[in-house]
Amino acid sequence: MVLGIETTCDETSAAVVTRSPSGASDIRSNVIRSQVEIHSPYGGVVPEIAARAHVEVLDHVIAEAMRQANVDYSELSGIAAAAGPGLIGGVIVGLTTAKAIALAAKKPLVAVNHLEAHALTARLTDGVAFPYLLLLVSGGHTQLLAIEDVGKYTRLGTTLDDAVGEAFDKVAKMLSLPYPGGPQVEEQAKHGYSARFAFPRPLMGRREPDFSLSGLKTAVRLEADRLAPLSDEDVADLCASFQAAVVDLIADRVRAGARAFRDRLGRGPTALVVAGGVAANGMIRESLAKVAAELNTRFAMPAPVLCTDNGAMIAWAGAERLARGIRDRLDVSPRARWPLDPAAAASATARA
Ligand code: ATP
Ligand code: MG
Ligand code: FE
Repeated sequence: MVLGIETTCDETSAAVVTRSPSGASDIRSNVIRSQVEIHSPYGGVVPEIAARAHVEVLDHVIAEAMRQANVDYSELSGIAAAAGPGLIGGVIVGLTTAKAIALAAKKPLVAVNHLEAHALTARLTDGVAFPYLLLLVSGGHTQLLAIEDVGKYTRLGTTLDDAVGEAFDKVAKMLSLPYPGGPQVEEQAKHGYSARFAFPRPLMGRREPDFSLSGLKTAVRLEADRLAPLSDEDVADLCASFQAAVVDLIADRVRAGARAFRDRLGRGPTALVVAGGVAANGMIRESLAKVAAELNTRFAMPAPVLCTDNGAMIAWAGAERLARGIRDRLDVSPRARWPLDPAAAASATARA
Protein backbone atom coordinates (compact mmCIF):
# COMPACT_ATOMS: atom_id res chain seq x y z
CA MET A 1 0.00 0.00 0.00
CA VAL A 2 1.45 3.33 -1.07
CA LEU A 3 0.42 6.86 -0.15
CA GLY A 4 0.69 9.22 -3.13
CA ILE A 5 0.81 13.01 -3.00
CA GLU A 6 0.19 15.37 -5.94
CA THR A 7 0.77 19.14 -5.73
CA THR A 8 2.47 20.09 -9.01
CA CYS A 9 -0.23 22.37 -10.34
CA ASP A 10 -3.68 23.36 -9.11
CA GLU A 11 -4.93 20.09 -7.62
CA THR A 12 -4.07 19.10 -4.07
CA SER A 13 -4.47 15.34 -3.95
CA ALA A 14 -3.58 12.34 -1.81
CA ALA A 15 -4.44 8.71 -2.41
CA VAL A 16 -3.77 5.23 -1.09
CA VAL A 17 -3.28 2.54 -3.73
CA THR A 18 -2.26 -1.09 -3.47
CA ARG A 19 -0.31 -3.04 -6.06
CA SER A 20 -0.06 -6.82 -5.73
CA PRO A 21 3.09 -8.62 -6.91
CA SER A 22 1.15 -9.72 -10.00
CA GLY A 23 0.43 -6.09 -10.86
CA ALA A 24 -3.22 -6.04 -9.77
CA SER A 25 -4.32 -2.74 -8.33
CA ASP A 26 -6.81 -1.31 -5.88
CA ILE A 27 -7.51 2.37 -5.33
CA ARG A 28 -8.33 2.54 -1.63
CA SER A 29 -8.83 6.31 -1.68
CA ASN A 30 -8.22 9.24 -4.02
CA VAL A 31 -9.00 12.60 -2.45
CA ILE A 32 -8.73 15.57 -4.82
CA ARG A 33 -9.14 19.19 -3.76
CA SER A 34 -9.22 21.44 -6.82
CA GLN A 35 -8.08 25.07 -6.67
CA VAL A 36 -10.03 25.96 -9.80
CA GLU A 37 -12.28 28.44 -7.98
CA ILE A 38 -9.30 30.16 -6.35
CA HIS A 39 -7.57 30.78 -9.70
CA SER A 40 -10.63 31.37 -11.84
CA PRO A 41 -10.77 35.18 -11.34
CA TYR A 42 -7.21 35.36 -12.78
CA GLY A 43 -7.99 33.23 -15.85
CA GLY A 44 -5.11 30.87 -15.09
CA VAL A 45 -3.09 29.29 -12.29
CA VAL A 46 -1.18 31.83 -10.17
CA PRO A 47 1.88 29.94 -8.87
CA GLU A 48 2.26 31.83 -5.57
CA ILE A 49 -1.44 31.44 -4.71
CA ALA A 50 -1.31 27.76 -5.70
CA ALA A 51 1.61 27.04 -3.36
CA ARG A 52 -0.17 28.73 -0.43
CA ALA A 53 -3.37 26.83 -1.10
CA HIS A 54 -1.46 23.52 -1.15
CA VAL A 55 0.07 24.38 2.24
CA GLU A 56 -3.37 25.15 3.67
CA VAL A 57 -5.13 21.95 2.66
CA LEU A 58 -2.53 19.23 2.09
CA ASP A 59 -2.51 17.93 5.69
CA HIS A 60 -6.31 17.59 5.66
CA VAL A 61 -6.32 15.96 2.24
CA ILE A 62 -3.76 13.37 3.37
CA ALA A 63 -5.64 12.69 6.61
CA GLU A 64 -8.85 12.22 4.62
CA ALA A 65 -7.14 9.84 2.15
CA MET A 66 -5.77 7.75 5.04
CA ARG A 67 -9.17 7.76 6.77
CA GLN A 68 -11.08 6.69 3.66
CA ALA A 69 -8.55 3.93 2.98
CA ASN A 70 -8.84 2.92 6.61
CA VAL A 71 -5.09 2.41 7.01
CA ASP A 72 -2.42 3.44 9.44
CA TYR A 73 0.96 4.85 8.38
CA SER A 74 2.61 1.69 9.75
CA GLU A 75 0.75 -0.38 7.14
CA LEU A 76 2.14 1.58 4.17
CA SER A 77 4.99 0.19 2.08
CA GLY A 78 6.07 3.62 0.94
CA ILE A 79 5.32 7.31 0.46
CA ALA A 80 5.32 8.71 -3.07
CA ALA A 81 5.19 12.36 -4.05
CA ALA A 82 5.30 14.11 -7.40
CA ALA A 83 8.75 15.76 -7.33
CA GLY A 84 8.17 17.58 -10.64
CA PRO A 85 7.81 18.79 -13.29
CA GLY A 86 5.48 21.58 -12.26
CA LEU A 87 5.14 24.82 -10.35
CA ILE A 88 8.07 24.65 -7.97
CA GLY A 89 6.32 26.13 -4.91
CA GLY A 90 3.63 23.47 -4.98
CA VAL A 91 6.11 20.68 -5.72
CA ILE A 92 8.15 21.71 -2.66
CA VAL A 93 5.04 21.57 -0.45
CA GLY A 94 4.14 18.02 -1.52
CA LEU A 95 7.65 16.60 -1.58
CA THR A 96 8.60 18.09 1.80
CA THR A 97 5.44 16.72 3.38
CA ALA A 98 6.16 13.27 1.90
CA LYS A 99 9.72 13.40 3.26
CA ALA A 100 8.45 14.27 6.74
CA ILE A 101 5.96 11.38 6.72
CA ALA A 102 8.57 8.96 5.34
CA LEU A 103 11.01 9.99 8.06
CA ALA A 104 8.47 9.83 10.89
CA ALA A 105 6.89 6.54 9.75
CA LYS A 106 10.27 5.04 8.74
CA LYS A 107 9.00 4.23 5.25
CA PRO A 108 10.74 4.44 1.88
CA LEU A 109 10.28 7.64 -0.12
CA VAL A 110 9.67 7.61 -3.87
CA ALA A 111 10.09 10.84 -5.85
CA VAL A 112 7.77 10.39 -8.81
CA ASN A 113 7.90 12.21 -12.13
CA HIS A 114 4.40 13.63 -12.65
CA LEU A 115 4.52 12.75 -16.37
CA GLU A 116 5.61 9.20 -15.57
CA ALA A 117 2.55 8.95 -13.32
CA HIS A 118 0.28 10.04 -16.20
CA ALA A 119 2.14 7.55 -18.43
CA LEU A 120 1.67 4.55 -16.09
CA THR A 121 -1.98 5.23 -15.18
CA ALA A 122 -3.25 2.78 -17.84
CA ARG A 123 -1.47 -0.02 -15.97
CA LEU A 124 -3.35 0.97 -12.83
CA THR A 125 -6.73 1.13 -14.57
CA ASP A 126 -6.43 -1.44 -17.37
CA GLY A 127 -3.39 -3.56 -16.55
CA VAL A 128 -1.80 -2.65 -19.89
CA ALA A 129 1.47 -4.52 -20.60
CA PHE A 130 4.69 -2.98 -21.94
CA PRO A 131 5.48 -1.74 -24.55
CA TYR A 132 2.64 0.62 -25.38
CA LEU A 133 2.12 3.82 -27.32
CA LEU A 134 1.17 6.75 -25.12
CA LEU A 135 -0.44 9.99 -26.20
CA LEU A 136 0.10 12.41 -23.33
CA VAL A 137 -2.09 15.47 -23.82
CA SER A 138 -2.38 17.90 -20.93
CA GLY A 139 -2.21 21.59 -20.15
CA GLY A 140 1.57 21.63 -20.20
CA HIS A 141 2.52 18.67 -22.41
CA THR A 142 1.72 17.09 -25.75
CA GLN A 143 3.88 14.08 -26.53
CA LEU A 144 3.81 10.67 -28.14
CA LEU A 145 5.92 8.21 -26.18
CA ALA A 146 6.94 4.57 -26.39
CA ILE A 147 6.43 3.27 -22.84
CA GLU A 148 8.83 0.35 -22.88
CA ASP A 149 9.24 -0.38 -19.18
CA VAL A 150 9.17 1.38 -15.80
CA GLY A 151 11.74 4.15 -16.28
CA LYS A 152 12.20 3.48 -20.00
CA TYR A 153 10.30 6.10 -21.95
CA THR A 154 11.23 7.13 -25.47
CA ARG A 155 9.76 10.31 -26.86
CA LEU A 156 8.66 9.79 -30.46
CA GLY A 157 7.21 13.24 -31.01
CA THR A 158 6.21 16.42 -29.23
CA THR A 159 4.59 19.78 -29.83
CA LEU A 160 6.69 22.43 -31.51
CA ASP A 161 4.69 25.22 -29.83
CA ASP A 162 1.54 25.01 -27.65
CA ALA A 163 0.26 21.98 -25.77
CA VAL A 164 -3.20 20.77 -26.84
CA GLY A 165 -4.74 21.64 -23.44
CA GLU A 166 -3.12 25.06 -23.62
CA ALA A 167 -4.72 25.61 -27.05
CA PHE A 168 -8.13 24.66 -25.62
CA ASP A 169 -7.59 27.07 -22.73
CA LYS A 170 -6.46 29.91 -25.03
CA VAL A 171 -9.37 29.43 -27.42
CA ALA A 172 -11.76 29.49 -24.45
CA LYS A 173 -10.17 32.72 -23.25
CA MET A 174 -10.45 34.46 -26.62
CA LEU A 175 -14.14 33.47 -26.74
CA SER A 176 -14.63 34.80 -23.17
CA LEU A 177 -15.54 31.36 -21.82
CA PRO A 178 -14.79 30.76 -18.14
CA TYR A 179 -11.59 29.10 -16.91
CA PRO A 180 -10.57 26.26 -17.19
CA GLY A 181 -11.30 26.29 -20.88
CA GLY A 182 -11.07 22.69 -22.10
CA PRO A 183 -14.38 21.42 -20.70
CA GLN A 184 -16.10 24.70 -21.70
CA VAL A 185 -14.98 24.41 -25.32
CA GLU A 186 -16.16 20.79 -25.38
CA GLU A 187 -19.55 21.80 -23.97
CA GLN A 188 -19.98 24.64 -26.50
CA ALA A 189 -18.90 22.38 -29.36
CA LYS A 190 -21.82 20.05 -28.61
CA HIS A 191 -24.25 22.74 -29.85
CA GLY A 192 -22.05 23.97 -32.69
CA TYR A 193 -21.64 23.24 -36.39
CA SER A 194 -18.15 21.84 -36.92
CA ALA A 195 -18.06 22.33 -40.71
CA ARG A 196 -18.73 26.08 -40.56
CA PHE A 197 -15.04 27.03 -40.39
CA ALA A 198 -12.31 25.14 -42.23
CA PHE A 199 -9.49 25.66 -39.75
CA PRO A 200 -5.96 24.45 -40.59
CA ARG A 201 -4.65 21.11 -39.32
CA PRO A 202 -0.91 21.89 -38.92
CA LEU A 203 1.66 19.16 -39.69
CA MET A 204 -0.97 16.72 -40.92
CA GLY A 205 0.60 14.14 -43.19
CA ARG A 206 4.14 14.68 -41.87
CA ARG A 207 6.13 11.54 -41.16
CA GLU A 208 7.62 12.78 -37.85
CA PRO A 209 4.94 12.43 -35.15
CA ASP A 210 5.20 16.04 -33.96
CA PHE A 211 2.42 18.50 -33.19
CA SER A 212 1.83 22.17 -33.82
CA LEU A 213 -1.17 24.08 -32.48
CA SER A 214 -0.32 27.74 -32.80
CA GLY A 215 -1.44 28.17 -36.43
CA LEU A 216 -4.81 26.66 -35.58
CA LYS A 217 -5.15 28.83 -32.51
CA THR A 218 -4.34 31.95 -34.55
CA ALA A 219 -6.88 30.97 -37.21
CA VAL A 220 -9.58 30.77 -34.53
CA ARG A 221 -8.54 34.17 -33.19
CA LEU A 222 -8.68 35.81 -36.64
CA GLU A 223 -12.11 34.36 -37.33
CA ALA A 224 -13.38 35.47 -33.91
CA ASP A 225 -12.04 39.00 -34.50
CA ARG A 226 -13.65 39.11 -37.93
CA LEU A 227 -17.06 38.08 -36.55
CA ALA A 228 -17.01 40.22 -33.40
CA PRO A 229 -19.32 40.81 -31.61
CA LEU A 230 -19.89 37.07 -31.35
CA SER A 231 -23.33 35.52 -31.09
CA ASP A 232 -23.85 32.37 -28.99
CA GLU A 233 -24.08 30.48 -32.26
CA ASP A 234 -20.74 31.88 -33.46
CA VAL A 235 -19.06 30.79 -30.22
CA ALA A 236 -20.52 27.28 -30.47
CA ASP A 237 -19.53 26.96 -34.14
CA LEU A 238 -16.00 28.26 -33.49
CA CYS A 239 -15.59 25.71 -30.66
CA ALA A 240 -16.99 22.86 -32.76
CA SER A 241 -14.77 23.72 -35.75
CA PHE A 242 -11.69 24.11 -33.54
CA GLN A 243 -12.35 20.82 -31.77
CA ALA A 244 -12.90 19.03 -35.10
CA ALA A 245 -9.50 20.27 -36.30
CA VAL A 246 -7.85 19.06 -33.08
CA VAL A 247 -9.53 15.66 -33.37
CA ASP A 248 -8.31 15.27 -36.97
CA LEU A 249 -4.78 16.33 -36.28
CA ILE A 250 -4.46 14.17 -33.17
CA ALA A 251 -5.67 11.10 -35.10
CA ASP A 252 -3.17 11.78 -37.87
CA ARG A 253 -0.29 12.37 -35.46
CA VAL A 254 -1.09 9.18 -33.53
CA ARG A 255 -0.97 7.20 -36.79
CA ALA A 256 2.48 8.71 -37.44
CA GLY A 257 3.42 7.83 -33.85
CA ALA A 258 2.41 4.22 -34.37
CA ARG A 259 4.68 4.06 -37.43
CA ALA A 260 7.57 5.55 -35.45
CA PHE A 261 6.89 3.06 -32.64
CA ARG A 262 7.13 0.14 -35.06
CA ASP A 263 10.30 1.56 -36.66
CA ARG A 264 11.93 1.85 -33.27
CA LEU A 265 10.80 -1.33 -31.51
CA GLY A 266 10.33 -3.63 -34.47
CA ARG A 267 6.83 -4.46 -33.27
CA GLY A 268 3.48 -2.80 -32.71
CA PRO A 269 2.30 -1.53 -29.31
CA THR A 270 0.23 -3.71 -26.95
CA ALA A 271 -2.15 -0.77 -26.68
CA LEU A 272 -2.80 2.83 -27.57
CA VAL A 273 -3.11 4.73 -24.31
CA VAL A 274 -4.24 8.30 -23.83
CA ALA A 275 -3.45 10.25 -20.66
CA GLY A 276 -3.47 13.82 -19.38
CA GLY A 277 -6.35 16.23 -18.84
CA VAL A 278 -7.31 16.56 -22.51
CA ALA A 279 -8.05 12.81 -22.52
CA ALA A 280 -11.25 13.76 -20.69
CA ASN A 281 -12.59 15.07 -24.03
CA GLY A 282 -15.29 12.79 -25.41
CA MET A 283 -14.73 13.51 -29.13
CA ILE A 284 -11.01 12.93 -28.79
CA ARG A 285 -11.60 9.65 -26.93
CA GLU A 286 -14.05 8.46 -29.58
CA SER A 287 -11.67 9.28 -32.41
CA LEU A 288 -8.72 7.58 -30.69
CA ALA A 289 -10.78 4.42 -30.17
CA LYS A 290 -11.27 4.30 -33.94
CA VAL A 291 -7.56 4.88 -34.60
CA ALA A 292 -6.68 2.02 -32.23
CA ALA A 293 -9.10 -0.29 -34.04
CA GLU A 294 -7.53 0.73 -37.35
CA LEU A 295 -4.08 -0.03 -35.91
CA ASN A 296 -5.37 -3.36 -34.66
CA THR A 297 -4.41 -2.55 -31.11
CA ARG A 298 -6.23 -2.26 -27.81
CA PHE A 299 -7.35 1.18 -26.68
CA ALA A 300 -7.02 2.16 -23.04
CA MET A 301 -8.33 5.38 -21.60
CA PRO A 302 -8.41 5.86 -17.86
CA ALA A 303 -11.58 7.40 -16.40
CA PRO A 304 -11.51 11.22 -16.70
CA VAL A 305 -10.85 11.67 -12.96
CA LEU A 306 -7.67 9.61 -13.39
CA CYS A 307 -6.68 11.47 -16.58
CA THR A 308 -6.45 14.84 -14.85
CA ASP A 309 -4.05 15.37 -11.97
CA ASN A 310 -4.65 13.04 -9.03
CA GLY A 311 -2.85 11.34 -6.17
CA ALA A 312 -3.76 7.78 -7.22
CA MET A 313 -1.53 7.96 -10.29
CA ILE A 314 1.37 9.18 -8.12
CA ALA A 315 0.81 6.38 -5.59
CA TRP A 316 0.66 3.84 -8.43
CA ALA A 317 3.86 5.09 -10.09
CA GLY A 318 5.48 4.93 -6.64
CA ALA A 319 4.27 1.35 -6.20
CA GLU A 320 5.61 0.37 -9.64
CA ARG A 321 9.01 1.85 -8.77
CA LEU A 322 9.09 0.25 -5.32
CA ALA A 323 8.28 -3.12 -6.91
CA ARG A 324 11.46 -2.67 -8.98
CA GLY A 325 13.45 -1.91 -5.84
CA ILE A 326 13.64 1.80 -6.65
CA ARG A 327 13.49 4.32 -3.83
CA ASP A 328 14.87 7.80 -3.24
CA ARG A 329 17.01 9.47 -0.64
CA LEU A 330 15.38 11.92 1.74
CA ASP A 331 17.48 14.75 0.26
CA VAL A 332 16.06 14.29 -3.26
CA SER A 333 15.43 17.69 -4.89
CA PRO A 334 12.16 19.02 -6.33
CA ARG A 335 12.38 19.79 -10.04
CA ALA A 336 10.45 22.44 -11.98
CA ARG A 337 11.61 20.83 -15.23
CA TRP A 338 11.97 17.07 -15.57
CA PRO A 339 11.65 15.54 -19.06
CA LEU A 340 10.58 11.89 -19.26
CA ASP A 341 13.03 11.27 -22.08
CA PRO A 342 16.14 13.37 -21.25
CA ALA A 343 17.88 12.42 -24.51
CA ALA A 344 15.03 13.69 -26.67
CA ALA A 345 14.68 16.84 -24.57
CA ALA A 346 18.41 17.56 -24.87
CA SER A 347 18.42 17.16 -28.66
CA ALA A 348 15.36 19.41 -28.90
CA THR A 349 17.23 22.08 -26.95
CA ALA A 350 20.27 21.67 -29.17
CA ARG A 351 18.08 22.11 -32.26
CA ALA A 352 16.42 25.25 -30.92
P1 ATP B 1 0.78 18.85 -16.95
O1 ATP B 1 0.19 17.54 -16.57
O2 ATP B 1 1.33 18.84 -18.35
O3 ATP B 1 1.71 19.41 -15.96
P2 ATP B 1 -1.74 20.08 -16.20
O4 ATP B 1 -1.51 19.49 -14.88
O5 ATP B 1 -2.23 21.47 -16.29
O6 ATP B 1 -0.41 19.93 -17.08
P3 ATP B 1 -3.91 18.31 -16.52
O7 ATP B 1 -4.42 18.73 -15.21
O8 ATP B 1 -3.52 16.90 -16.75
O9 ATP B 1 -2.72 19.20 -17.02
O10 ATP B 1 -4.99 18.75 -17.62
C1 ATP B 1 -5.50 20.05 -17.67
C2 ATP B 1 -5.70 20.44 -19.13
O11 ATP B 1 -6.66 19.58 -19.75
C3 ATP B 1 -6.22 21.85 -19.31
O12 ATP B 1 -5.50 22.49 -20.35
C4 ATP B 1 -7.69 21.65 -19.69
O13 ATP B 1 -8.22 22.68 -20.49
C5 ATP B 1 -7.61 20.35 -20.45
N1 ATP B 1 -8.91 19.68 -20.46
C6 ATP B 1 -9.60 19.22 -19.39
N2 ATP B 1 -10.80 18.71 -19.77
C7 ATP B 1 -10.86 18.85 -21.12
C8 ATP B 1 -11.83 18.52 -22.11
N3 ATP B 1 -12.99 17.96 -21.78
N4 ATP B 1 -11.55 18.83 -23.41
C9 ATP B 1 -10.36 19.39 -23.75
N5 ATP B 1 -9.41 19.73 -22.86
C10 ATP B 1 -9.65 19.46 -21.56
MG1 MG C 1 -4.10 20.46 -13.56
FE1 FE D 1 -0.89 16.63 -15.14
